[in-house]
Amino acid sequence: MAIDRVITSESKNEAEENFNVSLRPKQLRECIGQQKVIDKLKIAIEAAKKRNEPLEHILFYGPPGLGKTTLANVVANEMGANIRCTSGPALTKQGDLMGLLSNINTGDTLFIDEIHRLSTPVEEFMYPAMEEFRVDFTVDSGLHAKTINFPLKRFTLIGATTRAGLLSAPMRSRFGMLYHLEFYNTADLTLILKRSAKLLQLNCDEGTLNLIATRSRGTPRIANRLLKRVRDYAQVKGQGELTTAIVESSLKMEQIDGLGLDELDRSFLRALAGVYEGGPAGIEAIAATLGEERDTLEDVVEPYLLQLGFVRRTNRGREITKQACEHLGLKYSKKPTADDGPELFDSGQP
Ligand code: ADP
Repeated sequence: MAIDRVITSESKNEAEENFNVSLRPKQLRECIGQQKVIDKLKIAIEAAKKRNEPLEHILFYGPPGLGKTTLANVVANEMGANIRCTSGPALTKQGDLMGLLSNINTGDTLFIDEIHRLSTPVEEFMYPAMEEFRVDFTVDSGLHAKTINFPLKRFTLIGATTRAGLLSAPMRSRFGMLYHLEFYNTADLTLILKRSAKLLQLNCDEGTLNLIATRSRGTPRIANRLLKRVRDYAQVKGQGELTTAIVESSLKMEQIDGLGLDELDRSFLRALAGVYEGGPAGIEAIAATLGEERDTLEDVVEPYLLQLGFVRRTNRGREITKQACEHLGLKYSKKPTADDGPELFDSGQP
């Protein structure tokens, strides 16, 4: 059975979307963290504006909730351009994309989320659109088939993906700017929470926000979600004020531990330590054990566990580390590998 969790890569429901939209920064100066990416974007935007040209195509990649959609909207806003948003799985046939592209004006932005999930025909249809701002459209079939070249206005494509590795090389090479978004540090997450708390008119001090930040797995979306959960808890169980005690008890209720790990993270580690004796174990096998989607584990669970140094990815599969076992209070027993040298193996000789 899949575990219900606060931390998810799934598209957010309407209430959460509204909650997020109101908290989304609209301009570059409102964006907190990701300084290197922001600095490079500032230069690119200023240069494009000076030349009076649309921006080159941009790809943002990194784990969910780090701000890819937010940055796409900010970039379009800074360029004074309209943005049209869609996602890879929504574009099932060339005609879907044709409809979007033919309505786009010069300088406008087309945002494609989960761009690694575009079907091959749609992706191939995209190549001339990105490179030469034209599409080749085939009408009729068989003997009567003919290709029509349809010129497009010069637009900017912004793609977002959690898996840059799954993007084909021809697609990747058509982006002029590729930016990797990294997990946020606690100081930046505290600033993000401070901004959100102000927008939501919450009564709290910086220490409390810092506590939520340390449990947010380096991810603004999780930080904002936890803030919302704590706000609800404070309204029902307290006087509405966010105190350290309220934060502690509400996160305990959400089963979020001191490092921000939730039940799914812990189940992942426990399965690796118990069922697979520390690993190596293949991701498909772990997914089957947990009854979870492989994609959820790879997109949402693993990146933070890797960042913490709790899991190692090797050619033979995933392995748990000593730190992870210590965190969970499990016994760590490293299985000997060929890298450890011959002395660890039982040679069979007396
Ligand atoms: P992604 O597209 O990478 O999954 P989003 O752009 O949807 O992530 O970001 C999730 C939420 O995190 C946004 O709604 C926004 O409130 C918040 N957020 C993201 N990046 C920032 C930032 N740099 N500063 C402040 N808030 C941010």
